[in-house]
Amino acid sequence: MKYYSLQKIAPEVSFKEAVIKGIAPDRGLYFPESISPLPDSFFENIEDLSNQEIAFNAIHQFVSKDIPNENLKEILADVLDFEFPLVQIEENVATLELFHGPTMAFKDVGARFMANCLGYFSRDKDDEVTVLVATSGDTGGAVANGFLGVKGVNVVILYPSGKVSDIQERQLTTLGENITALEVAGTFDDCQKMVKTAFLDEELLENMQLTSANSINVARWLPQLFYFLFAYKQAKSKGKDIVFSVPSGNFGNICAGIVAQKLGMPVKHFVAATNVNDTVPEFMKTGKYNPKPSSATISNAMDVGDPSNFIRIRHLFQDNLDRLREHLSSYSFTDSETKEALLKIYTETGYIADPHGAVGYLGLKKYQESFPDTYGIFMETAHPVKFLDVVEETIAQALEIPKQIQKVMDKEKESIQIDSFKGLKNFLLHA
Ligand SMILES: *Cc1c(COP(=O)(O)O)cnc(C)c1O
Repeated sequence: MKYYSLQKIAPEVSFKEAVIKGIAPDRGLYFPESISPLPDSFFENIEDLSNQEIAFNAIHQFVSKDIPNENLKEILADVLDFEFPLVQIEENVATLELFHGPTMAFKDVGARFMANCLGYFSRDKDDEVTVLVATSGDTGGAVANGFLGVKGVNVVILYPSGKVSDIQERQLTTLGENITALEVAGTFDDCQKMVKTAFLDEELLENMQLTSANSINVARWLPQLFYFLFAYKQAKSKGKDIVFSVPSGNFGNICAGIVAQKLGMPVKHFVAATNVNDTVPEFMKTGKYNPKPSSATISNAMDVGDPSNFIRIRHLFQDNLDRLREHLSSYSFTDSETKEALLKIYTETGYIADPHGAVGYLGLKKYQESFPDTYGIFMETAHPVKFLDVVEETIAQALEIPKQIQKVMDKEKESIQIDSFKGLKNFLLHA
């Protein structure tokens, strides 16, 4: 499979090159040159397949010859060694729990898949790769965990100081080894901008091989399409049209869902639910894309003012707004609406959602006002315990701390503070 840059200037590259480069030299995001639908029989018999078999069938064409089948199967077995249960909480409303991995947010799958691919590509080379990643909360922990101890790979994580939850911060600042955390005086968008600037800095590029572990990297972005297939496998027997509501920030997860649809998976509609960072809901209304500085919210992993993957979604619909609207709706919700939803879900169903899942729930319910006879699935993208204070306060109930989280609670944070691109560059060149 070849990948082209959405800026259409840089040359096409293989999967391997796309993963190692992260972003094309013309600053465009890489995009697969084709998406071939899977045979009907795959969807007809999906209940009989294991998660690993489903994933292999779905990702194989995007990786093709760069990783031999046997190695790809080993990678998938390692990446997918936990559950992805669909939990029905109301008639026609279910949640797909994506938080059963090591850092308890959905980013574990993409981070582990990318770490395994890079590990495979650098298996018999001495050159080191530096992975640069900006995090709004959960990416940092997932990438730190996925890449810990991977030979030949150094990981540098940028996170906005004071804008991630305590547990999120501990997950990305306490591992050591090949992982370094840079604490940035600024917002997530500042972090993301610094990372993008680093990829264009000639002095850096001469001195090191840099790549990105944000969802702009195809190895982080594409494996997220597995979730939608796992959900379909569990929801198919309901016999209803399926709607997915995805709490969205950088729009990588929902974009991967749309790729699953292009692979032939039957889906009635997608809902992209956001917090007050509403660049995409506004675009869907007005047709104008106006990126804004991000505002801090209780669903902090979605505090993104200029979502990087939205351009891939537009591209999937040939940049045609009417066609996009047929498949996607997008709504934004405030923190107080989110808390109300958390409490409502808990009181009425006993289910404890996290703030991101609650935003997804709200988006789904809004869509179902017009389309009640659909089977709605909202993604629970993180375990509620990662947002301990706000969840416990909202539902007035103490949460049990799972052992993955307990492990980081008593470790000491280690970070290096920076406040500009100069600080980042200085660290990269002299650390
Ligand atoms: C990253 C994240 C999101 C947003 O996902 P995108 O792919 O960036 O849209 C939503 N919820 C949680 C908990 C996250 O960590």
